[in-house]
Amino acid sequence: MAIRPEEITAVIKKQIEGFSSSTELREEGSVLQVGDGIARVYGLENAMSGELLELPNGVMGMVLNLERENVGCVLFGSDRLVKEGDPVRRTGRIMQVPVGDAMIGRVVDPLGRPLDGRGPIKTSKFRPIDVVAPGVMARSPVNEPLQTGIKAIDAMIPIGRGQRELIIGDRQTGKTAIAVDAIINQKNQPDRPICIYVAVGQKQSTVAQVVQTLQDHGAMEYSIVVSAAAAEPAPLLYIAPYSGCSIGEEFLWQGRHVLVIYDDLSKHAQAYRQLSLLLRRPPGREAYPGDVFYLHSRLLERACKLSKENGGGSLTALPIIETQANDVSAYIPTNVISITDGQIYLESNLFYSGIRPAVNVGLSVSRVGGAAQTKMMKQVAGRLRLDMAQYNALAAFAQFGSELDAASQRQLGRGERLVEILKQGQYAPLPVDQQVLSIFAGTNGFVDDVAAKDVRRFESELFAFAASRHPATIKELADKRAIDDALKARLEALIKEFKALFR
Ligand code: ATP
Ligand code: MG
Repeated sequence: MAIRPEEITAVIKKQIEGFSSSTELREEGSVLQVGDGIARVYGLENAMSGELLELPNGVMGMVLNLERENVGCVLFGSDRLVKEGDPVRRTGRIMQVPVGDAMIGRVVDPLGRPLDGRGPIKTSKFRPIDVVAPGVMARSPVNEPLQTGIKAIDAMIPIGRGQRELIIGDRQTGKTAIAVDAIINQKNQPDRPICIYVAVGQKQSTVAQVVQTLQDHGAMEYSIVVSAAAAEPAPLLYIAPYSGCSIGEEFLWQGRHVLVIYDDLSKHAQAYRQLSLLLRRPPGREAYPGDVFYLHSRLLERACKLSKENGGGSLTALPIIETQANDVSAYIPTNVISITDGQIYLESNLFYSGIRPAVNVGLSVSRVGGAAQTKMMKQVAGRLRLDMAQYNALAAFAQFGSELDAASQRQLGRGERLVEILKQGQYAPLPVDQQVLSIFAGTNGFVDDVAAKDVRRFESELFAFAASRHPATIKELADKRAIDDALKARLEALIKEFKALFR
């Protein structure tokens, strides 16, 4: 029997009418089961993924699983305040955080609630925590440098504003130190980026230390700390990076610059694994759920450099990943390596042999930052890369005690000194002019005849000498775009003059 078109339209019309009335937000469900920070709720047929739910006693939940008979939600609050049969209401709202200038200088939890005891945050603006990243048309290529103040990074693994650069390494290899130094270094940068440090699963004491350090260096005045410490429930750890990113996006869309650190995404993945297992999602490799790649890619895609028409703002992301025994091929590390634009690879054996920051130059890379590096830095860094590569090849060779010719001996000696030049203390980021001066001295052979153990002293005394005797040359280094012949001659004369005095 044929169905007439009018009949079909009538049926569809009726269904659409039913659809709109059934999306009524007053819809109320009841708790089927609760425990381990998870609740299963019956009767919320139209709940959306990511929607906020209201449970009794001020507990909020977020929908993560939509199933046939019930929805699974994670709780932001104690599950002991909720019991079976309790009513649950939909809010129709997606999870959001307060944003705006009032957040600057504050320490907050992933819901934007203050943790610093400095009173409420006065802002009426909110942003959803999980949004789709800006598309390609809204972006422009990375073209401004994000100076970390760390010689090894700014010279050889340059980061551009809007880039995603992974900091990866074992426990206690100086990962957090690099991120914190990068924040401190923004203090005197042009168009100073607002810095957001997101702590995921760190010890409370570690977070307090970072906040203290930022305060001591006057960096809290342009920073925000979002903290979900290890002791917090997994749902808070899970949303922390998204919420930090949303706080940053508010500034991004105002045309400002933002630097966001996620410390660290290994613990974020573990929190998500815990939630997924409790929600009974099927476990996959290393017991992570199948969408763990999407977890981080949708976060890191949100880092970007916006086009001029969109205000030209940028959001740079420095995610951190902790490896076990330098294994970068474990599941989460490989995922995040493939999502980012490069990685800074820190190694414990370098760290323990006193090479700090413990950057493994050969395995570290920045795929887009070169476009943002200043011409002057490019001039000195090109040579540095080459010298370091030759040194590393020779050093491996020399280990076997083979006889080396004079030229190779010289190369080896040069490399040893460059390794010294690239060492840098914590909380001591350097402006570009000093970085260039130091690397210029190293790659042009001015330290070849200085004992390796004296190189760091040589550097610091050279800085002091240059600042007091030749401030004009240093200013030129800071202001000029490139080193021309005249400036090169002045630099050489300056270093020679200093060497005559150096003991
Ligand atoms: P975790 O795995 O515990 O998070 P991490 O990799 O973040 O560790 P940090 O906490 O940054 O490492 O640094 C470990 C230790 O090394 C700290 O005591 C820190 O002060 C020291 N350290 C880091 N960088 C340097 C440096 N450039 N010079 C000297 N000491 C450093
Ligand atoms: Mg750390």
